[in-house]
Amino acid sequence: MRHLSEGVDRFQREVFPAKSGLFAHLAATHRPGTLFIGCSDARVVPELITQTEPGELFVVRTAGNLVPAYAPGADAVAAGIEYAVAVLGVRDIVVCGHSGCGAMTALAEGHDLSGAPAIADWLRHADASRARTTAPAAGEDAVAALVRQNVAAQLANLATHPSVARALADGDVRLHGWVFDISTGAVDELDTGARPLLAA
Ligand SMILES: [Zn+2]
Repeated sequence: MRHLSEGVDRFQREVFPAKSGLFAHLAATHRPGTLFIGCSDARVVPELITQTEPGELFVVRTAGNLVPAYAPGADAVAAGIEYAVAVLGVRDIVVCGHSGCGAMTALAEGHDLSGAPAIADWLRHADASRARTTAPAAGEDAVAALVRQNVAAQLANLATHPSVARALADGDVRLHGWVFDISTGAVDELDTGARPLLAA
């Protein structure tokens, strides 16, 4: 824990003063342009990958970057999406998968999850991802294939949320699917039909 408190110390001493104007502005303004839905994986840091400043990304992170399809009821993921889209008015939504994802590895390799019932339940939200992954492309392993298909499946789930469906119908939001490679830093953009965010 000590390096955390030292980090806070350094933030207050060096980083915050250098960005004091930005934080003064942000104290009264919250207008992120992008909803970024990524995996909870500690190695996939949205602001680092995209080199964005505080205030730019509204971030929802879940195990396996899964977005449950819309269903009425209490759901933190649905509430986060609705807030970002309907209240904050984000213009872009990125669902970002990544190499070496523990959730996708467990599914692709058929790990025994009987001792982890909450994880097993949660990963059911990737059922469509598994169904879409018929065979890996040449040179691609089973985990990588599932990671890609999972991003596509979660984008489809995202569109079942009423706030997203409305914004899509009105042309107010664009959906993007990314895959981040931890070993190379590469970010691959899936073809979603929307104008790509990344330079080709
Ligand atoms: Zn992951």
